[in-house]
Amino acid sequence: MIKTITEPINKTVTNRIIYSQSHIDNATTLVCIGGIHGNEPAGVLGLRKIVEDIVSKAIKINGNFYALLGNISAFEAGIRYKDFDLNRLWSEDDIKVLNDSKYFEFEEQREQYELYNTIKDISKKHNGNLVFVDLHTTSSSTIPFITISDSLNNRSLADKFNIPIVLGIEEYLDGPLLSYINEFGHVSIGFEAGKHDDEKSILYCEAFVWLVMEKLSMVNKHLISYKEYDKLLHIEKGFYEIMYRHSLAETNEFEMCSGFKNFTQVIKHQLLAHDGVSEIKSPLNGLIFMPLYQKQGEDGFFIVRKLSRFWLVLSTVLRSLKFHQLLRLLPGISKHPENTYCLIANRRIALFLTTKVFHLFGYRKKVVIEDKIHFIKRDRKKVPFT
Ligand SMILES: [Zn+2]
Repeated sequence: MIKTITEPINKTVTNRIIYSQSHIDNATTLVCIGGIHGNEPAGVLGLRKIVEDIVSKAIKINGNFYALLGNISAFEAGIRYKDFDLNRLWSEDDIKVLNDSKYFEFEEQREQYELYNTIKDISKKHNGNLVFVDLHTTSSSTIPFITISDSLNNRSLADKFNIPIVLGIEEYLDGPLLSYINEFGHVSIGFEAGKHDDEKSILYCEAFVWLVMEKLSMVNKHLISYKEYDKLLHIEKGFYEIMYRHSLAETNEFEMCSGFKNFTQVIKHQLLAHDGVSEIKSPLNGLIFMPLYQKQGEDGFFIVRKLSRFWLVLSTVLRSLKFHQLLRLLPGISKHPENTYCLIANRRIALFLTTKVFHLFGYRKKVVIEDKIHFIKRDRKKVPFT
């Protein structure tokens, strides 16, 4: 039974940086973001609890820690966003437009500009590893889970947790913040704590961030309620990949059939939703993922499947040995002239190798340009954040 958040949420925000503690320039820097979606208060409230603990127990963090608020105006209004989803605006072109703009027409442009500059300032200030955690909640009930772009450094931190890890969501979403950060080679992990208004989601966010700090050796186990947090987030170990996304048109009157929870089995042709005109049935067997039970959002639902340990080990070995370089030697595949992380394939070779092979080698993002398919890799060399 869900206990909903009943206490009035303090929505007064005086600063985008909720809290910061910095000591050593070349140590690990952890940046946690809550409320990039304004209707998801659990991340912000979880971070505030952590800050209370740090202050009241005078906890000294080994490294640098920043807690940030994402979409301040939407958080204050209790809505996902005002004009644009702040977690769909992070492309190189969007950032360029932002930097070149003389004034901002929309609220989210101002929010993004401030958040972008805050992250840039943090990354300039510290030389060590940067790790980003973005805290979210969902419109339907769910067990907590992690979402990451499929890079080996993201996988290695996520794999330290006993909660489901979903790979490759960036293949289907345009411009999430973490994918942008990932392009600079930094570890970036998304955490979905549970339902938006479930009181427990706050505790899950709190537990997750503390455990991230513990796993990065930034706090000692005995300074935090380690056993309680570890037990709370001991759910199920496993990596999943997204097989299908049901995207929504602006005019769509999408309505998910009731009762679908994350990671429940669905079979091909099973009725899942209605869109005002027709029935929407599952195109394949798999597990339902992030079914939409709110008005705002671009994705009706996803379908995921569990990846085998064999696949995960094989892909780690192949990528570590840089076997992906062999892909470039195949006829019909060429290197992108400017982007070293991109392979260009003609449709015939792409069909022959199938997307699965590209996934194995770490090329998850697929973009069709003219008659060619561009496959983009997520494993990156670390470069300064710009
Ligand atoms: Zn969200």
